Amino acid sequence: TNNRVINFGAGPSALPASVLAEASQGLLNFQNTGIGIAEISHRSKEFTAFVQNLESLIRTQLDVPPTHAILFTQGGGSNQFSAVVLNMLARYRLLHPEKKSEEVVMDYVVTGSWSKKAAEEARRLSGGSQVNTVVDSRDHSLAQKKSFDNIPPHSAYTFSPDPALIYYCENETVDGVEFSHDPQSASSFPFHLLPQDQLVPLVADYSSSFMCRPIPRLGDHAIIYAGAQKNIGPAGLTVLIVRKDCIVDVDAAAKLGAIPVPIMLSYKTLADSKSLYNTPSVFAIYVTGLVLERMKEQGGVPYFEELNRRKQGKVYEVLREGEAKGVVRRKVKEGSESWMNVVFDVVGEEGGGAEKRFLEGAERNGMKGLKGHR
Ligand code: PMP
Repeated sequence: TNNRVINFGAGPSALPASVLAEASQGLLNFQNTGIGIAEISHRSKEFTAFVQNLESLIRTQLDVPPTHAILFTQGGGSNQFSAVVLNMLARYRLLHPEKKSEEVVMDYVVTGSWSKKAAEEARRLSGGSQVNTVVDSRDHSLAQKKSFDNIPPHSAYTFSPDPALIYYCENETVDGVEFSHDPQSASSFPFHLLPQDQLVPLVADYSSSFMCRPIPRLGDHAIIYAGAQKNIGPAGLTVLIVRKDCIVDVDAAAKLGAIPVPIMLSYKTLADSKSLYNTPSVFAIYVTGLVLERMKEQGGVPYFEELNRRKQGKVYEVLREGEAKGVVRRKVKEGSESWMNVVFDVVGEEGGGAEKRFLEGAERNGMKGLKGHR
């Protein structure tokens, strides 16, 4: 572990060295079974108990209520771009069997490149339903070249009356834009504009901010999902928190005209099999479990929220100083800045001169993965 550098990669991301050391032992011999973790049956009692424990580590640390199931799957965030559409359209079909597809609307809040991608997938899979852009934050950009650099004001949102789903991405990894968790902030998610008297079909992509702090109004969400590889483990594991009314019989819905749902994308398949319908990503589950055990020992989500608050505070303070000196340029509007992905330009000799020297200097000091998205 001596020659490890500081890895700033957004995902896959750095994992605690103590966890990697423990995992290397587990690769040889998982919990004294005499079998390595990559070799043991996913149906063994040791591994199924490990999965149950992983669920409870997430449930207790995030305070997930019994109204919601925690499910594990594969395929990353991108697979959920498709799965949320198909499962929520099936749910809507069962609730409104009489509605024509053209009358069904899916609401997308677009604040960056990932929510934009998710909305594109919804259009591909819509089967004639409409995709409504609730708001596109580029329309609220003050930059000359309109970009995803802000969380729009609450007055800009236009939700549909009865959508099949309402989608947003809590932290936009590439653009460095994140919803504030302070309900008084103009950059918070406008929960107060959603219908208050019904189960709202609210879907949130938490891929790049999962468990870095508590999730506001978690119980009001229909689906929250996150790939593990940014905050809690290796790639290969996707965590889903699904309100139980969104785990529906997709085959019954298909008989009423909904789009058939591939068996592995159906939340009911995952729920009925306790996330073990087929062979899961055993190693990713294992390392994630070790990370979350360590997290619990250190004080859980509240501890990490405080740690992350201090970390982002320090980084943005330095950037503000650098901006005052004309060395760097911040790209995101004040108040909409991400705790997780800090996006800035190095100023000077546009086209890369100063930035190249900055990256080379960082590398000499043992810091890698600082260069942002192309
Ligand atoms: N959503 C967000 C916010 C992401 O950052 C990413 C990955 N960069 C994805 C979705 C896609 O995730 P995956 O690569 O796991 O499919």
